Parts: sequence; structure tokens; C-alpha cells
Amino acid sequence: MPKMFLDGKVALVTGASRGIGRTIALELAKSGAALAINYAASREGAENTVAAIAAMGGRACALRADVSGFQAARELVEECVAALGGVDILVNNAGITRDNLILRMKEEDWDAVVDTNLKGAFNCIRSAARYMVKNRWGRIINISSVAGLSGNAGQVNYSAAKAGLIGLTKAMAKELGSRNITVNAVAPGLIDTDMTGILTDKQREKISNSIALGRLGRPGDVAALVAFLAGDAAGYISGQVIAVDGGLVI
Ligand code: NAP
Repeated sequence: MPKMFLDGKVALVTGASRGIGRTIALELAKSGAALAINYAASREGAENTVAAIAAMGGRACALRADVSGFQAARELVEECVAALGGVDILVNNAGITRDNLILRMKEEDWDAVVDTNLKGAFNCIRSAARYMVKNRWGRIINISSVAGLSGNAGQVNYSAAKAGLIGLTKAMAKELGSRNITVNAVAPGLIDTDMTGILTDKQREKISNSIALGRLGRPGDVAALVAFLAGDAAGYISGQVIAVDGGLVI
């Protein structure tokens, strides 16, 4: 079998039971990495992702954890290391929305989004970085959003969490660079997944008209960039925020 560019690497992808996370996991597996497939509730989805990787001849396991819990995220990283022998690539993809206008937003909607989307990434990095520092090699890729760059009405919690991820990315890149660890953020625009499934056809059409490429993105559009950032070819790229949005925010 020809050598692939992520052969011998172990990747942990949070929220890989469906949507963008699942596609990222498949793309990394296609490139040779062994995969830890994290999920919060969708066990069947996670097991499907594992089965799809096994069918390609890859190695993967499904690990349940709510990444918003500090201890749960720690156990997740430990389980990944125990099952697959390490953690070289961490993709912080798990995310939720609890949209509402600020005057109607409940405290628990703010907390849930910030705890999952921002603190969840901190929690996983806090445990995984230790192994990367020891190995003098690592890739941390945080899935932010264009909402974190330009803000979205009705999404103050989500926009703040995704902007926070960008600050976290830049600070971590400075802290960990000397250990040969890169930290980057990917900012998707509107991607066709369950998260955007609530949009009506009319809303989709309106949004598509404001995107330079004239269509919503596909999970594979994001996964291709993540796989590139995970490899040695991207070894001199760190602290960056790269939008995959079809030209929505220019
Ligand atoms: P999705 O289809 O709703 O999938 C979300 C994933 O996150 C699921 O696998 C879910 O697991 C997992 N998850 C949620 N809360 C979790 C928690 N507390 N602990 C662990 N896993 C958790 O979302 P998506 O559209 O693929 O989005 C993936 C990422 O891209 C998110 O960070 C999102 O903010 C970001 N993003 C998406 C878009 C878009 O247009 N879709 C745009 C910009 C950014 P379960 O299945 O077990 O619930």
C-alpha cells in the first residue's frame, strides 16, 4: 500500500458522529491517521463513522464524552491514548447553537454554547497538549466560524464563543510553537449539515445569493483544509484563521 501523509499519526476529532466532524474524521483516516471519534449523544452516528473508517482499512474507535466537562475531556484524551497509542492531532469541532436575540437569551443558552464551543476546546487542549509537547510534534485545529469574525445577529453567544476560539488559537500558537506544535482555526461559512438544516429553501436561496460562489458549503470543503493543516506540508502555518466560506465574508 502506498504511504499516506498521516500514516502513524493519531487524531482525536470531537463531535465526529455527524456533520463536519464526521467528514473531517473520514478525510484524516483516508490520509492514514488512526481516529478517535468523539460524540456526546449520537452513539449510532459515531459507530457508523468508525465502521466507515474500518471499511476503508483504517483504525478507529468511538469515545463518548461531553467536552464541556473538564474531567470528561481529560478522560476522553486518556482513553484516546490508551486505545490508539497517543494523540498527535486534535480537532476541536464539537459545537452547538442556542440562538436568540439578546433580550430573550436565557443565561443557560449563553452558558451551554460558551461551555461547549469554547471551554470544550480548552478542556481538550489542556490534556492533549501534554502529549504533543512530549513528542515535539502536534497539530491543533479549532473549528471556529465566520460568526466569530463578523458577528451574527441572534447569535451573540455563538459569535462570542467562536471569536474566543480565535483568541485561544493565537495565544496557544505562541505558547506551543517552540515545541513544533501548530495551532490554527478554521472558520466555515454556511455548511450544509444538521446545524443549518432548519433553514427554509427561501432562506437558503437568500444566503446563497450573498455567497461569491453562489452555494452553501459542503462538509468536505472544510475537511480538505483540516487534513492539509494536519500534515507536514502545513508545518510552517500557525496562529492563522482560515475561512472556508465560498467568499461569504470578503
Ligand atoms: P452538527 O451537525 O450539529 O454536529 C455537531 C457535532 O458536535 C455532533 O457530532 C455532536 O455530537 C457534537 N457535540 C455537540 N455537543 C457536544 C459536546 N458537548 N461534547 C461532544 N460533542 C458534542 O454540527 P456541524 O454543522 O457539523 O458543526 C460542526 C462544527 O462546525 C461546530 O463547531 C460548528 O459550530 C462549526 N460550524 C458549522 C457551520 C455550519 O454551517 N454547519 C458553520 C460554521 C461553523 P452528538 O451527535 O453526539 O450530539
